[in-house]
Amino acid sequence: MPTTPHRYRPEEIEALRARYRAERDRRIRPEGTAQYRRAAGEFGYYAKDPYTEWTERDPVHDRVEAVVIGGGFGGLLTGARLRQAGVQSIRVIDEAGDFGGTWYWNRYPGIHCDIEATVYMPLLEEVGYVPKWRYAPGEEIRRHCVAVAKQFDLYADTMFHTRATELRWDEDAAEWHVRTDRGDDFRARYVVVGSGTLTQPKLPGIPGIETFRGHTFHTSRWDHGYDLAGKRVAVIGTGATGVQVIPSIAPEVGHLYVFQRTPSSVDVRGNRPTDPAFAATLRPGWQRERMDNFLTLVTGGHVEEDLIDDGWTSTARLQRQMLTGTVDTSIPAEEREYLDELADFRKMDEIRARVDDIVTDPATAEALKPWYRYMCKRPTFSDFYLETFNRPNVTLVDTADHGGITAMTETSLVVGENAYEVDCVIFATGFEVGISGVISGTLPVYGRGGMPLLGHWRNGPRTLHGFYSHGFPNLFHLGSLQNAAAVNFTHVLQEQATHIGALIGAAAERGAQRIEPTAEAEEAWVTTIRETAPVNFDFRAECTPGYYNGEGKPRPVNNSFGPGPVVFHELLRTWRAEGGMDEVLRS
Ligand code: NDP
Repeated sequence: MPTTPHRYRPEEIEALRARYRAERDRRIRPEGTAQYRRAAGEFGYYAKDPYTEWTERDPVHDRVEAVVIGGGFGGLLTGARLRQAGVQSIRVIDEAGDFGGTWYWNRYPGIHCDIEATVYMPLLEEVGYVPKWRYAPGEEIRRHCVAVAKQFDLYADTMFHTRATELRWDEDAAEWHVRTDRGDDFRARYVVVGSGTLTQPKLPGIPGIETFRGHTFHTSRWDHGYDLAGKRVAVIGTGATGVQVIPSIAPEVGHLYVFQRTPSSVDVRGNRPTDPAFAATLRPGWQRERMDNFLTLVTGGHVEEDLIDDGWTSTARLQRQMLTGTVDTSIPAEEREYLDELADFRKMDEIRARVDDIVTDPATAEALKPWYRYMCKRPTFSDFYLETFNRPNVTLVDTADHGGITAMTETSLVVGENAYEVDCVIFATGFEVGISGVISGTLPVYGRGGMPLLGHWRNGPRTLHGFYSHGFPNLFHLGSLQNAAAVNFTHVLQEQATHIGALIGAAAERGAQRIEPTAEAEEAWVTTIRETAPVNFDFRAECTPGYYNGEGKPRPVNNSFGPGPVVFHELLRTWRAEGGMDEVLRS
């Protein structure tokens, strides 16, 4: 790798731009997101819970103070903050069989979180836990979720394997009626929707997919009962999940065929056990300090010392603009874009050089090189992935020229002229991107006077700070919609849970029945979002296709707060401290 930054000649810049465009054009498919199939109907078994047995229970018709929809980190953090605010009766609902959200569903071999555990795993100090590894394995994170639920007594009133199907506001009683797919119909003063964004597995729309007679499953519903030893196995997909699964199963299987459409950028991981000497230095407040340090760095801010110092923080300048839209306004926009592009070329050249350093077969190495800008796809990190392609029992099948796998038959996967006979197909093909059931319409919400929330939002979402809407009292949304977005999403969720906890705590203290923004406050926030939302439409439109950009057809509207999460969290703190609550608490 070059020690001094390579300076690009104008013709080199043009050549890179042309190569990126050509790779994008080669990859784009006219159907866009319609190329995928839902894991529903005849494919519904791909979404079934393989980990916890489904048990019959009677429908519930009672009342709770707060219901939290979603038992992942959003729900856990909210539950914790509500307990700390003195809320006694909290019910968590989830379609899964236990707490954990993404970490409940994703249990594939090799699963780790690629953000340092000390900043990713929330509530470590509250639970009194120091992660064992720098990048935690999924099982350690899942157990932490369970520990958080126990610590804050959230198991007391859970409804697992249950999906909320309707929320209806009763103005006289000032409470919500909550209906579920288990026949429950109960009341709750507060509802918090934290049902995640990447939860529903999706399948590629490969012609003939239904005819395949071998074994199949999706990575997020791993079949641990199926013995891969000695089998001919196909993995479809080389995103962040594929990059972790592929090296983990390669030593075990007979032969592994990796079906790649677009290569990931794969940077150095450097995982290691937590140093006991480091753990011994930790003083109260340590996690907050590390989380703040990481968030500031990856959103383009300045800190005296980079406490995390990993692939994310070192490439922070690149992510700055793409993830949050924050920019150094002292440099003219055009020059800033040019400098960002050069930094991006440098980073991607490093990533491509790493492929050449590791992969011995030149044709395989060539196929593994990503030709797009760094943040067009989720960056990945692994010290084992590229090495796996040097194994004699692993074949990379590059499907880019065909827009993916061409067909499936009873026994094989077909790419152009070639058929690959396999015993098992593992779909590492990702998830449907939704904001929540509220947006997709699978969880209809009716507010004051029976107004449907999607009706109120017919011209786009309308909230104050992303949390709540006028006409829909005591209903809170978690997520980045009109709120903040960040690569360490649990940090954002923690701030959201803190805000909701503070509001509900204040309502109890003051005897307020309703928490609801005025129509004016909502309108003002919609305007703020419109005016500040990051203008990265062109960037996203020119990127290689993927779920980040609607498969090459991004929506022109971006709905997160442009100045970024650090500014947003400060804004919320100031709002709370300076009497904002008075505007939303009502009798
Ligand atoms: P992705 O959507 O990122 O990847 C899906 C993969 O399937 C892509 O490689 C895609 O190719 C490929 N694919 C889809 N259709 C076809 C087809 N017809 N033929 C061949 N290949 C096909 O899903 P992941 O599960 O990998 O990741 C989803 C997200 O989950 C990540 O972006 C990340 O946010 C999160 N995650 C986070 C981790 C962490 O450590 N924090 C770990 C794992 C996941 P193409 O690129 O060409 O579309």
